[in-house]
Amino acid sequence: MTADGATRAPSPADPDIDAFTRPYWQAAAEGRLLVRRCGACLRAHHYPREFCPYCWSEDVEWEEVSGRGTLYTWSVVHRNDLPPFGERVPYVAAVVDLEEGPRMMTEVVGCAESELRIGAGVEVAFREGEGYAVPVFRVAGER
Ligand SMILES: [Zn+2]
Repeated sequence: MTADGATRAPSPADPDIDAFTRPYWQAAAEGRLLVRRCGACLRAHHYPREFCPYCWSEDVEWEEVSGRGTLYTWSVVHRNDLPPFGERVPYVAAVVDLEEGPRMMTEVVGCAESELRIGAGVEVAFREGEGYAVPVFRVAGER
């Protein structure tokens, strides 16, 4: 049993949610993607950090982004022995450049590998977990 009374054992797929990252996960559960933006140099970054990785300022705030980006690169995972990921193979582990600047590790879903192209437009979607949602991306239609 977990601390919150759940009877399910924690899974390696569960995000590690703490006081700092809670706003990010709450937004994701509502279908919104957040990044952090620096008030000093104005650059956005991801994954979320408590200070700016470019200028070290602590003047950093959450910002909702469009969820649009382009596919930077990807790799198709055919084998993963860590449950529950083995049930998901093959899946597309990807790196996406968000329209607002940050580059993020993610997964592309709902698309055959043969249809993936570097620079393809992608849009965020959210995979429901147990009590949370994880941002993933789909190849975007014509804009
Ligand atoms: Zn900065």
